[in-house]
Amino acid sequence: MDEVVTAARAVDWSRLGARGLCDACLGRLFGMLGHGYTNAARGAAIRAVVDVPTGVCWVCSTLTSRYDDLADLVVRKIEETLKRAMPGFRECLEDMRATR
Ligand SMILES: [Zn+2]
Repeated sequence: MDEVVTAARAVDWSRLGARGLCDACLGRLFGMLGHGYTNAARGAAIRAVVDVPTGVCWVCSTLTSRYDDLADLVVRKIEETLKRAMPGFRECLEDMRATR
């Protein structure tokens, strides 16, 4: 993570102005450095050493904090589509859920 923090310290963050960045988007700027870390982990490490505005993220508008909700939505839509398209899928899905 040292290389991420070193690179972040070299950036003129004042050019960002008052635009907020979430940890995930902040870390994504340095995604080529610090392998094995999530973008959010990179962003949190950077935020600990440089002054980057917080608030609603200028890039994603908090979308990155909603990945789980979006994944659930995708699963529900796929299940609905399969229930309509494949007779017997509903029973198969219920069997799969019962065996978890
Ligand atoms: Zn963001």
